[in-house]
Amino acid sequence: MTKPAFFQVAIDGPASAGKSTIAKILASQLHFVYVDTGAMYRAVTVAAKKAGLSYDDEAGITALLPTIQIDFEPGQPVQKVFLNGEEVTEAIRSIEVTNNVSLVSSYGAVRSDMVEKQRAMTEKNPVIMDGRDIGTTVLPNAQVKIFLIASVDERAARRYKENKEKGMKVDLETLKDEIKARDYKDSHRAISPLTKAADAIEVDTTGIGIDEVVAKIKKIIEEHRA
Ligand code: C5P
Repeated sequence: MTKPAFFQVAIDGPASAGKSTIAKILASQLHFVYVDTGAMYRAVTVAAKKAGLSYDDEAGITALLPTIQIDFEPGQPVQKVFLNGEEVTEAIRSIEVTNNVSLVSSYGAVRSDMVEKQRAMTEKNPVIMDGRDIGTTVLPNAQVKIFLIASVDERAARRYKENKEKGMKVDLETLKDEIKARDYKDSHRAISPLTKAADAIEVDTTGIGIDEVVAKIKKIIEEHRA
């Protein structure tokens, strides 16, 4: 196995397991670049909507890919995301995008384009990248691979709290159904489905606070960097 020139941490797992929260904190503490690959698939979904395409129009979305430029900028409390220069940080989190991103991200051309962009981001800096296929497909030689899980009840409760803070009203049962549906689609698609890499370390965050999870993963990273 060839070790990447710059250190790579892959964090995969199902929807709302806490991947981006944990990855962002670790990246800032360790001075690594943070790459939120879910945001990239969400940005493609927004691009399809802006182009007036139906989400099931695979050929149309494929043709759109060469015109899509996605950029990240540091921001608080979340990283800013730009689609062709326009900020889409909030637009990518809409319920419509959340409920259609799994379909858009199941298309082969969308995946190969995103994977190419994601790998390019590892060439100049150490990275922490979170998603569904990072340890299995995008960065198979990553020095550290984490598979983050939590119960559906806990994940739905976290999402409920986030939505409430944003003033969005969605009931808990609907959130549970949406999370289960997204997990199912992400785990059963033909290309790069959500699976735990054979060499990934599973971390269950159910009932564990953010600080504890961060400390646990930081220790794993430090052991591998030594
Ligand atoms: O991580 P997040 O929930 O924002 O991801 C949104 C969606 O993007 C996932 O449900 C999945 O369909 C897709 N995704 C993917 N591969 C990744 C990251 C996200 O297919 N590496």
